[in-house]
Amino acid sequence: MFKDLEEMNKFLVRCEKCPRLVEFRVRVSERKNRYFGENYWSKPVPGYGDHNGKFLILGLAPAATGGNRTGRIFTGDKSAEFLVSCLYEVGFTNKGSSISREDGLIYYDTYVTAVVKCVPPNDRPTPEEMKNCLPYLKFEIDTMRNLRAILVLGRVAFQSLKMYYREKGINIKDEFVNGSYIDINGVRVFMHYHPSPRNVNTGRVKREEFIDFLKEIKEYLMK
Ligand code: SF4
Repeated sequence: MFKDLEEMNKFLVRCEKCPRLVEFRVRVSERKNRYFGENYWSKPVPGYGDHNGKFLILGLAPAATGGNRTGRIFTGDKSAEFLVSCLYEVGFTNKGSSISREDGLIYYDTYVTAVVKCVPPNDRPTPEEMKNCLPYLKFEIDTMRNLRAILVLGRVAFQSLKMYYREKGINIKDEFVNGSYIDINGVRVFMHYHPSPRNVNTGRVKREEFIDFLKEIKEYLMK
């Protein structure tokens, strides 16, 4: 096992456990889009923020031109733009944008990571890939000594979290319900749809509702 998160991340960025994702994380950098010609990260993307914090935000995976390009989770894509601007409104960050690893973004009391650390085709990791990546997530969660709340973004991330608890002998029967929460061993798990461009553009995720949900989490953490 790893000594600490830093040691885990050194190991993580060299991980090649999932052949499909190892190939894809490089191939997406060759797509002709507005970032064509940029030097992509194209490796597993570590979590970011305050690992000693009370709050964990759990996304699905790095975005092709987001984390996979910039090397930082929820950075440089539309989901990041939405998420971080909302977090800023509620006081979880020092600024409302997440552009690059050099932008000075600070999360307060909050750590952000994804259940799968490499970008998957069509944002759909296979169950085997989720299982392969689970030990990293497990280490990240187990070493958050002050953890009190988790915000799970989307059903797939919730499935991984259930896998995490199952390995600890806790069988969660609850299903993902947007806007709700469950309490597990002193940790409140909040669930919300992922703020992907599709969910935001179709109105499935609404800015004001998302901000209200973050306020609810903040109130819980301040108790
Ligand atoms: S998804 Fe996780 S387990 Fe698979 S190659 Fe990437 S870092 Fe390794």
